[in-house]
Amino acid sequence: MKILVINSGSSSIKYQLFSMPQEKILARGLLERIGLSCSVLHHSREGNSELEISKQIRNHHQGLKVVLEVLSHPEYGAVEDIDEIDAVGHRVVHGGEKYTASCLVDDDLVSTVREFCELAPLHNPHNLAGIEACQKLLPSVPQVAVFDTAFHQSIADHAYLYAIPYLYYEKYRVRRYGFHGTSHRYVALRAAQILGQPLTDLRVITCHLGNGCSITAVKGGKSVETSMGFTPLEGLVMGTRSGDLDPAVAFYLMEKLGLSASQMKQILNKKSGLLGVSEVSNDMRDIWKAKEAGNPRADLSLRIFWHRLKKYIGAYAAVMNGLDALIFTAGIGENDCQTREKVCQGMDYLGIEIDKDRNAAIQGEEAVISTDSSRVKVLVVPTNEELMIAQDTYQIAKGKTEGQ
Ligand code: ADP
Repeated sequence: MKILVINSGSSSIKYQLFSMPQEKILARGLLERIGLSCSVLHHSREGNSELEISKQIRNHHQGLKVVLEVLSHPEYGAVEDIDEIDAVGHRVVHGGEKYTASCLVDDDLVSTVREFCELAPLHNPHNLAGIEACQKLLPSVPQVAVFDTAFHQSIADHAYLYAIPYLYYEKYRVRRYGFHGTSHRYVALRAAQILGQPLTDLRVITCHLGNGCSITAVKGGKSVETSMGFTPLEGLVMGTRSGDLDPAVAFYLMEKLGLSASQMKQILNKKSGLLGVSEVSNDMRDIWKAKEAGNPRADLSLRIFWHRLKKYIGAYAAVMNGLDALIFTAGIGENDCQTREKVCQGMDYLGIEIDKDRNAAIQGEEAVISTDSSRVKVLVVPTNEELMIAQDTYQIAKGKTEGQ
């Protein structure tokens, strides 16, 4: 079965064409600058060098049309005809409380995704544009939505509710939703496979440390706690986001500086985190360079980042009554051995013992980095949200075909 995985952003479409169940990538690409002056498509097919096409592309519909043309191009394509595409899997950020798993796209799903545009304005409208374009261009092909929020729908009410008037939950659905769910689910499943144990027997903490950072407690295969909340602003320190903060800080600054709600939102989302503290960059590699050059604020931003992460690991071990595996993923988690070492330092009380040499040798590959005697296994697992989307889409599309 050939499965096309689509991740549409505000001005971009990322895609991968998989052959399933072999999990083989036949082609992949990135279309950038949709709606801007000069759009560029970078496309590559297995065994072929990268192709770059510059073309004016006005919207997602036009963008996907070009992607489908390239995928079926006689020279660069991976299929002879787009009819060979059996199903499309879409990344969708917000599925609200309704979607607890990946699901076939129907009218109801489209209206839920639209409804949650208000809570995920930077993602859901563009995810929806991708779905609607595919529905028009591939009308008889099943479309599957894979939600970032779905994995966290197993979290109990005492963990997803904020202690504010209940009315705001009832009326406006203000609660913790959690994000990065597809990544947390993928790395937890993969870690269990690497350890040769069923995920249902394990208590796992997954640390997704990219530009956005979140941490999840996975008990018996289900998400029981996660650090991002009503929006992706809560929790860990991120590239430009503050993460946790006394809400009174925002009121104080708004009153003191006469800031509007949207100005405050901008400060907490775009000007805080590693960038805000270091005043160097939101990129971890730049922070390291500055620290090594003796910049004390770069050093401070790192210490705040590590401290927050460590605090959450302890809290989540408490929530699960112990811990069997700790997993690091995404740009920082996969590549930054010093962050992994710092965070694991002084956690022997929990049974975490990192093997410094093993850890230092690992960059961007799957590995166990704890000592053989460590009670808690510590792993690096590169995330692969596209593969998780392809797997879900394959299962759902297969079920649909078999049910026909
Ligand atoms: P996104 O959330 O955009 O997918 P990534 O998962 O690619 O982000 O993570 C980006 C982060 O990973 C950046 O802060 C980047 O500096 C960091 N990163 C990438 N490679 C390294 C490395 N070798 N050492 C430290 N940090 C790294």
